[in-house]
Amino acid sequence: MNDKIYDISIIGGGPAGMFATYFAGLRNLDVALIESLPKLGGQPETLYAQKHIYDVAGLPKISATDLIKQLDKQLEITKFDKYLNTSVSSIERDENDSTWILTTNKETIRTKAIIIAIGNGAFKPRKLTFDYDKTLEDNNLNYFVNHMEDFQGKDVLVAGGGDSAVDWSIDLSKITNHTALIHRRNKYRAMESSVKKLNESDVEQLNPYIIKGVDYNADDHKKIDVHLKMIKSDDEKTVTADKLLVNYGFVSDSKILRDWHIELSGPFIKVTQEMETNLPNIFAIGDIVTYPGKLQLITTAFAEGPVAVTKALRNLYPNRDYFEHSTSIFEK
Ligand SMILES: Cc1cc2nc3c(=O)[nH]c(=O)nc-3n(C[C@H](O)[C@H](O)[C@H](O)COP(=O)(O)OP(=O)(O)OC[C@H]3O[C@@H](n4cnc5c(N)ncnc54)[C@H](O)[C@@H]3O)c2cc1C
Repeated sequence: MNDKIYDISIIGGGPAGMFATYFAGLRNLDVALIESLPKLGGQPETLYAQKHIYDVAGLPKISATDLIKQLDKQLEITKFDKYLNTSVSSIERDENDSTWILTTNKETIRTKAIIIAIGNGAFKPRKLTFDYDKTLEDNNLNYFVNHMEDFQGKDVLVAGGGDSAVDWSIDLSKITNHTALIHRRNKYRAMESSVKKLNESDVEQLNPYIIKGVDYNADDHKKIDVHLKMIKSDDEKTVTADKLLVNYGFVSDSKILRDWHIELSGPFIKVTQEMETNLPNIFAIGDIVTYPGKLQLITTAFAEGPVAVTKALRNLYPNRDYFEHSTSIFEK
């Protein structure tokens, strides 16, 4: 176990968790931000990156991905530890010192307070539904782009018909040897402007095809054979490539909460006006919470973070100043 004891660990790196991290850092709390995906941003970044948001105060119109970039930039100002690809599976109290122990798929994290900001639950990519050799996921078969360089000079197949698949195929085609986009329909579910860019790009469009299977190429084990079947036709073909990037969207699941002994109302966490749950020093904010009048909006999530952080600060350090305007903090 990591020996460090954080003041606050924030579970979930969507808008709620990102802004709460910034606010806690600004108040000199020792903060960990834990996100199950390889990148921060929650629903805006994962589900609707290219769409515009029109109801965040002070920002008349901003794309979801740009809003997340701004939150990320704001986070650069503050000190915190970021745990990506890290999914919290259980929360237990250490009765000896009243701290909480978070078990994750990686390390164990010890903390005095917790803010749960998990939205609709941990996102997981929707995977290919047929059986395939899972070792393909070590290199050739990807559900995320972690590093663009991994695709440099390669023959790449992208699967999917939404914004993410279309945008990735256009971006990757600028650095790959060859990029093809496989979609089961002739029409894409992506923004018109992105489809226009796709049609003007070098991306080969393989549609309407579904993927029936994927395996290692018999002659060159570094490559893969992707077996395609045309919709409503007997036409089948096999395409050999270095990589297959599947972008079939994400599924989320908050069932895990049931094992955390937190009081729920349906799928949501019940919180007080100060964002407290029924457990000591565990708070919750954002889409996962419910209270009378709750709105599932970014702007509400932004407001709930400071309330939770301030209450945690008052509980942990009763003698510290807990309310200060950011203007005074920066001027010190
Ligand atoms: C299509 C669409 C359009 C929308 N448009 C608007 C709009 O115009 N204006 C607006 O205000 N709102 C809009 N919303 C709603 C808005 O996106 C949500 O209210 C907001 O994302 C909630 O933020 P959050 O941080 O609470 O949750 P999320 O954004 O869901 O983030 C939660 C994060 O927690 C992570 N996580 C979950 N479980 C774990 C775990 N166990 N361990 C580690 N990490 C975990 C997840 O991977 C995720 O990244 C829209 C939503 C959708 C789907």
